[in-house]
Amino acid sequence: MSETHEFQAETQQLLDLMIHSLYSHKEIFLRELVSNASDALDRVRFEALTQPALMPGTEPAISLHADPEARTLRISDNGIGMTRDEVVSQIGTIARSGTAEFLRQARQSGGDSVDLIGQFGVGFYASFMVADRVTLETRKAGSDETTVWESEADGRYTISAGNRDFAGTTVTLHLKPVDGEAGIADFTDEWVLRDVVKRYSDFVGYPIRLYSEGRDEQLEEPLNSMKAIWTRPADEVSDDDHAEFYRHLSHDAREPLLRIQARIEGNFEARALLYVPSVAPYDLYHRERAHRGVQLYVKRVFIMDECRELVPDYLRFVRGVVDAEDLSLNVSREILQQDAQIRAIRNHLTKKVLDGLAELKRDDADRYREFWAQFGPVLKEGLLDLSEKRERVLDLMLCASTSDESGLTSLSDYVDRMGDDQDAIYYLNGPSREVAAGSPQLEAFRARGVEVLLFSDPVDEVWLQQMPPTYRDKPFRSAAEGDVSLGSESEKKEEAERSEERQGEFKPLLDALRTAVQDEVKEVRLSTRLTESPSCLVRDEGDLSPQIAEMLRQAGQEVPVVKPILELNPDHAVVARLREIHESDATDARVGRYAELLLGQAVLSEGGPLRDPAGFSKRVAELMLSAL
Ligand code: ADP
Repeated sequence: MSETHEFQAETQQLLDLMIHSLYSHKEIFLRELVSNASDALDRVRFEALTQPALMPGTEPAISLHADPEARTLRISDNGIGMTRDEVVSQIGTIARSGTAEFLRQARQSGGDSVDLIGQFGVGFYASFMVADRVTLETRKAGSDETTVWESEADGRYTISAGNRDFAGTTVTLHLKPVDGEAGIADFTDEWVLRDVVKRYSDFVGYPIRLYSEGRDEQLEEPLNSMKAIWTRPADEVSDDDHAEFYRHLSHDAREPLLRIQARIEGNFEARALLYVPSVAPYDLYHRERAHRGVQLYVKRVFIMDECRELVPDYLRFVRGVVDAEDLSLNVSREILQQDAQIRAIRNHLTKKVLDGLAELKRDDADRYREFWAQFGPVLKEGLLDLSEKRERVLDLMLCASTSDESGLTSLSDYVDRMGDDQDAIYYLNGPSREVAAGSPQLEAFRARGVEVLLFSDPVDEVWLQQMPPTYRDKPFRSAAEGDVSLGSESEKKEEAERSEERQGEFKPLLDALRTAVQDEVKEVRLSTRLTESPSCLVRDEGDLSPQIAEMLRQAGQEVPVVKPILELNPDHAVVARLREIHESDATDARVGRYAELLLGQAVLSEGGPLRDPAGFSKRVAELMLSAL
C-alpha cells in the first residue's frame, strides 16, 4: 500500500532551486548524505549508552553501493533510522524555520549558495541535484517497521511499507545521466567517489566503505581516514586539514580567522580545537537559535553538539570540539552544568580564546578589525560578567572616537592619549556612530581637544551603567551626564565662578522656560558643554538612559519616567536674545514657544523621538514664515 503526499509549496520551491539553479559543486550531495548517516550513527551510539539493545549488531559504518549499469548509488547506514512519522515530518515536509530564510538568501546570492545548504538543514534535498528519483528506506532502532519514501521532485512523494533486516537508513539515488557541463560526474565511479569522500568527509568518525557492482574484489580500507584531527600533534596537521575540518564542523566554506588548540592536563585530561570564524553566522544575534558552538566528545565518542557549557555566551561564535578523557559517556546537560571538570575546561578555553584574540590584536591589526566588526558586540557581552575576565575584554575592545572619524581606537591607546588634566574616560552613547559624533554634547570637548569615545551598540548602554566600570584605574564618564568641567584646576575654578554669575543673570528666563516645558524636563540650566548649538539634553549621573529604559520596557518591566535636563548655551545669540525679550516683557508669548523649539532641537540632535512631532514642525513653519 502506498500513499501519495503533496510537498509543501516551499519545499517544492526549494527543490526547483536545487535542481535548476543552485550549484557548481553538485558532488556535495554526498557530503550531506554521509553527514546525515554519521549523525544517525552518533545518535544510535548515544542512545545505546542507556539502552544497549539498540547498538547495531554489526560495526557502525556507512556504505556506498555503486551500480554503474543501473546508474544507482546507495548510501546506507546502520544508525538510528526513522519512524514513519519522523520520515513524514523530517523528510516529507521541510516546514522548518530555516527554509524561507534559505530561499531568500539563496535568491539574493545567486549561484553562490553552497555554504548556505548545511546551515539551513536542507541537506537531504541536495540529492535531487544529481538524481531524478530518490528512494529512502528506513527502520528505526528498536522497531521492526520499515518505511519507504520516494519522490521524483515533482511536487509529490509516496510513503509505503518496506522490509529491512536491521535498523538504519538507505538512500538510493537514481542518477541523472553524466553531464560534464552540468557538473554531474559519474557518481558510480570508484575514483570519483573516493575523491569526493576524501575531500568532504575524511574526518567522519565511521568507516565509509565502497562496494562497487561488478568489481572483483571489494575494498578493505574505508575511503576516509577517520582521524580525529585534534588528537594529532599540531605540527602534523596542515592548514588544509584544518580548513576541511572546520568546514565539516561549521558548514562554513570560508577559512576561519583564528584557530586555537588547547590541551588540559593534570587532574583530568582534555583536548580542544577551536576556531573563530571569519564571518558571523546569520543567527548570531538570535540567542535561542545561535550557538552551533562547540561539540563535546568523550574519548573520541561524540556526545553532543552545541555544548553551551564549554564556552561562555559571549564567545558563542567560537566553533570547535572538546574531547574529554575522563567524563562519563552518560553525561547529561544537567550534570554538565554542575560538573567541576567542565567548569575548569570552560575557564581554560575562555582564557585561551582571549589570549588568541589578544595576540591577533597585537600582531595583525587589520584582521583584528575584521574580527571586531563581526563579533565585537557579542564579545562586549563579556563586560557584563563581573569576573576578572572583564578587564581582559576591555583590553580587546575597539571603539569609535572623536579623534578619528572613521577608524577605531583601543582603550589603552585612548588612555595613553589622555591629557594630564583629564581624569576620566569620556564617552557618549548614541543610536549610531554618526548621530553620536554630531551630538551638541560634544562641543566643549571638541573645543578643548578632549577625545570622546562613541558607543552605539545596545550592549554598551548596559555595561556602562553597571557600576563602576574603570579601565587602568580611570573611571568612564558620560559626556551627556552630570556636570562637565574640563581643563586645568584654575580654568575649572574660573569657569565655575563665571557660570555662577551667569546662572544669576539668566535665572528669571530659566524659570520661565522651565514652566513652559516642565512636563518633559526636570530642570533647565545653563550649559558648560555647548559652544555652537543653543541647547542639548543631559541626564543626572546614574539616571536611566532613554535607550535602556526602552529596553527594560520592552522586556516587560515597569520603568519610572526619568526626565532629562535641558541645557542652554548662554553664548548663543538665540538664548541671549530670548533673555532680553523676557527681561523687557515677562509675559511675551514667544518665550514659551521658544522653550518648546529649544527642547525639540535638543531631542532631535540626540536622535530621540519628539513628543509632538507635528506640533514641532508647525512651530518651525511659523518661525520660518515670520523670518521671511
Ligand atoms: P539536516 O541533516 O541538516 O537536519 P536533512 O534534510 O539532511 O537536514 O535531514 C533532515 C532530517 O532527516 C535530519 O535532521 C534527520 O532527523 C533525518 N535524517 C536524514 N537522514 C537520516 C539518516 N540517514 N538517518 C536518520 N535520520 C535521518
